[in-house]
Amino acid sequence: MSADVVVIGAGVIGASVAWHLVKRGARVTVIDRAPAAGQGSTSRATGGFRAQYGSAIQVKLSLLSREKLRRFADEVGGDCGYRPCGYLWLAETAAELQALGEAQRVQHAAGLAEARMIAPAEIAQLNPYIRSDSIGAAFCPTDGFIRPLGILNGYLEGARQLGATLHYDARVIAFSNGAVVTTAGTFAAGAVVNAAGAWAAEIARLASVELPVTPLRRQVAATVPCALLPDDLPMTLWAGDGFHLRVRDGRVLLLQPVDEPSGFATSLDESWLARIDALKRERIPALAAVALDRAASWAGLYEMSPDKHPIVGEARPGFFLANGSSGHGVMHAPALGQIVSELVLDGRATCLDAAPLRLSRFSEGDSHPALALL
Ligand SMILES: Cc1cc2nc3c(=O)[nH]c(=O)nc-3n(C[C@H](O)[C@H](O)[C@H](O)COP(=O)(O)OP(=O)(O)OC[C@H]3O[C@@H](n4cnc5c(N)ncnc54)[C@H](O)[C@@H]3O)c2cc1C
Repeated sequence: MSADVVVIGAGVIGASVAWHLVKRGARVTVIDRAPAAGQGSTSRATGGFRAQYGSAIQVKLSLLSREKLRRFADEVGGDCGYRPCGYLWLAETAAELQALGEAQRVQHAAGLAEARMIAPAEIAQLNPYIRSDSIGAAFCPTDGFIRPLGILNGYLEGARQLGATLHYDARVIAFSNGAVVTTAGTFAAGAVVNAAGAWAAEIARLASVELPVTPLRRQVAATVPCALLPDDLPMTLWAGDGFHLRVRDGRVLLLQPVDEPSGFATSLDESWLARIDALKRERIPALAAVALDRAASWAGLYEMSPDKHPIVGEARPGFFLANGSSGHGVMHAPALGQIVSELVLDGRATCLDAAPLRLSRFSEGDSHPALALL
């Protein structure tokens, strides 16, 4: 079996890379160890989309993705679900407000003109269902929501129709003489793309590449079905502690990242759920009588890089990385697919300068500053 390019991982990023490559005429094989696509982190994502970030490269990735999401139905096919309902970042202290304002200056300089600071009165109009001591907020009306599996399936089905071959139940176990060795056979390849999400470091190690991508559990609490909040409510986040909420599929989803050791475990933590329940009662009076539904809650894995930015580029001749999106991989998949396809086929990315995403930034001491917010 041979292909121009073997893409390892049938998650949203592998699917986008595959579609962009076949669209340009490459022969592509996508390999995944699972029995079907989307069994990794992609199906666990809640489907937030934002361009409000604190670094120019993340803003630019979002703007390129947004452009492509707007054309998705015509260009790729299927429903990416992009809905510009907005992201509302609440500040309860002067320091939080200042950090949001500084991030917004970066956003404006990178081309996100519509992000703006707003006063408490407008916060109450945008989300009248919460109780907060906000002194101000950052809001961007073109942020909002997407459908992770709509994007994954659109790209993968589009790639298949254009000639890509998909192989499931094929775990990559080695690289040997220009070929990818899997539990379901060996695939010769001119180039290989690592799109293995939280498991990317294991794949890189097989190619003798040290990739600083680690798995980190993220939990999502879902309420029982209720129609108390509208489904176009902006994603609402407390900048101070990261607690946030959105409405999806007739439930309210509640999240709060907490410090925990990296690892592949994805069980739900009862004490975390109890904490979320308490925050819900305190901060969302409208949901006081609405219970959390443990059976509908879930956890999945973020694929963390040390500076929370993606790691993209050719790590060894013919071995490409599309990794480390650090929990933003669905929204950035359209942009990353195009960037990686250009790196593979042209040797450089022209849609966006991908140099800030190179692996060597860590050894060169040129990684992105760790930002408290955004
Ligand atoms: C709770 C939660 C909420 C999130 N919310 C958002 C959000 O709102 N917006 C957003 O943009 N992102 C969000 N994310 C992050 C997002 O899910 C990821 O960034 C994205 O799915 C990564 O896509 P991927 O294709 O790289 O990885 P995955 O979807 O994990 O795909 C990787 C694939 O590689 C395969 N694989 C692994 N090892 C091997 C091997 N040895 N051989 C063959 N195949 C292999 C796996 O089976 C898997 O299918 C969230 C994540 C979580 C956990």
